[in-house]
Amino acid sequence: MFYNEFMPRPEYIEITCKSAVNRVQGMPYLKWSLNPYGGCVHRCRFCFAVQYRVVADQGTQQDFGTRLFIKTNFIEVLARELQRPGLQGEHITLGTATDPYQPVEGRYRLTRGALTLLRDHANPMSLLTKSPMIVRDVDLLADLARVASAEVFFSITTVDLDLWRTVEPGTANPFHRLRAMRTLREAGVPAGVMMAPILPGLTDSAASIEAVAAAAREHRAAYFSAAPLRLAPHVKEFYLGFIGDEYPELLARYERAYPGTYAPAAYREKLDERVQRIRAAYGFAGNAERRRAPQPPLIPRRGPQLALPI
Ligand code: SF4
Repeated sequence: MFYNEFMPRPEYIEITCKSAVNRVQGMPYLKWSLNPYGGCVHRCRFCFAVQYRVVADQGTQQDFGTRLFIKTNFIEVLARELQRPGLQGEHITLGTATDPYQPVEGRYRLTRGALTLLRDHANPMSLLTKSPMIVRDVDLLADLARVASAEVFFSITTVDLDLWRTVEPGTANPFHRLRAMRTLREAGVPAGVMMAPILPGLTDSAASIEAVAAAAREHRAAYFSAAPLRLAPHVKEFYLGFIGDEYPELLARYERAYPGTYAPAAYREKLDERVQRIRAAYGFAGNAERRRAPQPPLIPRRGPQLALPI
């Protein structure tokens, strides 16, 4: 990664943790999570996780991307916790407050250690990442998919490369992530695309969503899901500061639309209809059907492109 005065070199701080498995708050469909690191150098401008840093009084939204905490005893603590009867067979998610495959993972390998333990204990697992580094662990993910279940979500906000550089300055090129997803699929790992959050005025047009869905299809995604932007306290100030700097013409619209955490209900409904229509047009199941049905068939790597449906 390239660092300069605009992108300062991160500070890495080794810490120890008392617990590794956390009960997830505020996400009804997830129960347990693992976050081996604190902070994330991917520095997405809309990062939902900056609120945890501020609320825990561990720093600011701005230093979430430059002060990284590394839980050096994470694997040892997790190994103990997974012996508990209450965690046997439980579904555990990686990456609810950080990206488990940000560059520091290359050195500390805490995510790989956690996956090894989850496989050994046959715990079903899901994870969300923006990093192609995950390909390093394709062997473990394929094992996990066999002995329990594994579900990998590749976060793709946009495939517009100019926009990508602006909104996610520390992440890998979205096409590198898509190629990593295809590698996982070819190894038998269930993997798909999550387009979240969808950014009003930047990525919410039918054309933007279609572009991501088409790229997901072309790279053999097993599923495609999307979610609108949520601006929780602390996230809102962080994101609107970025909008004010980079897209000042959108700022008043955001301020009107987000008096609280959520976009207006009418906007969310319309966006949901748009996503559902595009998802169906590209042959992806809805979230509920996806969990019941087998994965969609793979398409040939250089097969014909699907025509835009609307
Ligand atoms: S990858 Fe996730 S945790 Fe990391 S900065 Fe982006 S949104 Fe935040």
